[in-house]
Amino acid sequence: DGVLYSEVRRPCRVMLLVNPHSGKGQALSLFTGHVQRMLTEAGVPHTVVITERQNHARELAREADLSQWDALVIMSGDGLLFEVVNGLMEREDWESAIQTPLGILPGGSGNALAASIHYYSGSQPVSSEELLVSCGFLLCKGLVSRLDLVSVNMASSQRLFSFLSLAWGFVADVDIESEKYRHVGAARFTVGTLVRLASLRVYQGRLAYLPVDEPPSRAEVSPPLPASAFCSSLLCRPSKASSHQNTFHNSCNSNNAGKARRVDGPTPAPRGPADSLLAPLEQPVPGDWTVVAEEDFVLMLAMYQAHLGEDMLAAPGSAPDDGLIHLFYVKAGISRTALLRIFLAMEKGAHLATGCPYLVYVKVRALRLEPLSPKGVITVDGEAVDYGPVQAQVHGGLARLVSG
Ligand code: ADP
Ligand code: MG
Repeated sequence: DGVLYSEVRRPCRVMLLVNPHSGKGQALSLFTGHVQRMLTEAGVPHTVVITERQNHARELAREADLSQWDALVIMSGDGLLFEVVNGLMEREDWESAIQTPLGILPGGSGNALAASIHYYSGSQPVSSEELLVSCGFLLCKGLVSRLDLVSVNMASSQRLFSFLSLAWGFVADVDIESEKYRHVGAARFTVGTLVRLASLRVYQGRLAYLPVDEPPSRAEVSPPLPASAFCSSLLCRPSKASSHQNTFHNSCNSNNAGKARRVDGPTPAPRGPADSLLAPLEQPVPGDWTVVAEEDFVLMLAMYQAHLGEDMLAAPGSAPDDGLIHLFYVKAGISRTALLRIFLAMEKGAHLATGCPYLVYVKVRALRLEPLSPKGVITVDGEAVDYGPVQAQVHGGLARLVSG
């Protein structure tokens, strides 16, 4: 359906970042139990690096000698890939660094991108270990597609790059409140949703967006690259490929994978392409934007991949590089029952078919949210960011994803 896939040789020299504390805290044993042999048999040399703390993966991505690696793969939840993406975008050579194929193996409690990749492959929905095995298999296949990134700008002039979602209100609250249920795995969102439903509240804010009438043409989104461009970034060096040696590093000697300098002090500002669609936050939105009349919401959810969680198919029409932000919002006034019905239907991506008049779905290329409620949560890829005015625009196909 227009997704640009390119048959390439297997990725080799994979840096595989494992977060030992993600999900139920079993990422490492899940990797050794379900994926490692598959990679070895497929001849995909990989170096396992155990992340030691928050932002370790970000520092590794920022400092790594990328000529050494053909793909950066994380075994964790979406949070660890968020670190890798932003680490790459903070580099002076961001433009080439962000072309490094990125992969994900579901090892966390929030495995939305992994579930999306499985979904894009056209396979029947699965979860838990079956999802892990599916993603391991797709990693061995080594097909690469482009991946949209969304540039998210905060009032503090902080800028982040996001591959999954921007959320405010109900979904963002559940995201953060459910962190304490991480030990139950993906079910944390179900528990969190039920808890939040019991204390349903309204969030005040102003929302505006730049609508897309029709999906932008491929040329507008991301010019297709000749297949050789993908190959050259993933090409197995014959000598390495024939004598592949999987190296396994535990936390005691894990740091040869990237000169992991501990960087204290402020995080360097991300670089990246200019946000040509955005006006400064203190100015009104451009004239061709739509300003939503309502100012009372239950949630705003901007998605650029299909899944919000393993069993939450929020944007079934999404493709990894469609150059679109799939914007959903729910207006205040919806009943608890109707909201619950939406979340239950989302498991199969059927929430729009519920015909709920409070649920709005529009495809956009940029958006601005100005929360008016004094307190609240905004999440980017499931991670809490500064609460306040925020605006974002999609950069079609800026990154690359090992997908199905
Ligand atoms: P989950 O889906 O379970 O939340 P994530 O991949 O989102 O999994 O990881 C959660 C957080 O764990 C990330 O923000 C990451 O920075 C942090 N992290 C990574 N390595 C470690 C570690 N060794 N100890 C503690 N936290 C870590
Ligand atoms: Mg997370």
